[in-house]
Amino acid sequence: MMFSDRFNRVITYLRISVTERCNFRCIYCMPAEGIALVPKVELLSFEEIARVVSVGAKLGLSKIRLTGGEPTIRHDLPELVAMISDIDGINEIAMTTNGARLSELAKPLRQAGLSRINISLDTLRPDRSVELTRRDLLPAVLKGADDALAAGFTPLKFNAVVLRGINDDELCDLASFAHERGSQMRFIEYMPMGSVRTDERNRTVTMREMLERLRERFDLVPEPGNLSDPARGWVCRRSGARIGFITSMSEHFCDSCNRMRLTAEGGLRPCLHQNAEVDLKSVIRGGGDDNDVEDAFKRAADLKWAGHQMNAFVPIYSSKDMLRIGG
Ligand code: SAM
Ligand code: SF4
Repeated sequence: MMFSDRFNRVITYLRISVTERCNFRCIYCMPAEGIALVPKVELLSFEEIARVVSVGAKLGLSKIRLTGGEPTIRHDLPELVAMISDIDGINEIAMTTNGARLSELAKPLRQAGLSRINISLDTLRPDRSVELTRRDLLPAVLKGADDALAAGFTPLKFNAVVLRGINDDELCDLASFAHERGSQMRFIEYMPMGSVRTDERNRTVTMREMLERLRERFDLVPEPGNLSDPARGWVCRRSGARIGFITSMSEHFCDSCNRMRLTAEGGLRPCLHQNAEVDLKSVIRGGGDDNDVEDAFKRAADLKWAGHQMNAFVPIYSSKDMLRIGG
């Protein structure tokens, strides 16, 4: 039996936010002053997360992604990875990170069973990086990427959120940077979300516009789609290098959605952009057994919308910040 929603989309993938904290303050994700943090006791413990994953795996989950906030800020993260990698049915554990702590953590994470790493990298220019992340940590990110490659995380995926007038002149440089490291560059269309959402739809650069710029350097052709990957793939005819686009705004990929999210506070969220959540933490802490946890998964699946509403006539955006949901 497969775990599916009302629209017959099979759910195999859980993105887990392990913390709301972050060592960066990216302008599109976090207010400069940070966010009010919930007390630590409100966050799911490693044991609670592992329990949720093991019930989810029995239902049919096979892929986990650790995210946040910044996942590498959570103390003893390799321990959680080891716990998840021991769960039958989970065959991939990935992580999305800003990369600044990878020099220290790439090896222990690899040894614990982490399979893949995506590094967020919006710019290669130190001054611009300070403007975008409000931190002076680009050298640590670049070293972290090299150390992750050396630890065996090949290929890496680098993700850049593209903002009009801020970093949209760097697309070719970022793509070349990733290609030189045998890795893939993926460009994300900026989504207006949460408390940092200003009236900034015009900051979004669509895939179509990005392709125009990239074709100044690369001879790109579309790659056949892989339904489990939301990135639209393009490949460079000359070098074989691949570039991906996360086109949430211009061409959403909701029809092939296979995922659900677990917030750091233990909410099961059917969609990044849908404000409904099932309170899984109360189920666990209220003494619920595995059938109750399974039931919570099924309720969250039943809540899933057919598609996000960011492009609707009256758009609906997530009122929660990305870092609280686990982007
Ligand atoms: N801190 C980690 C990182 O930055 O990779 C993981 C969490 S972060 C919320 C996950 C991803 O969401 C990052 O790739 C980030 O660039 C992206 N993101 C954050 N806010 C966004 C927004 N408003 N629109 C599009 N992508 C966004
Ligand atoms: Fe932190 Fe990632 Fe959000 Fe940047 S995008 S503020 S690194 S959580």
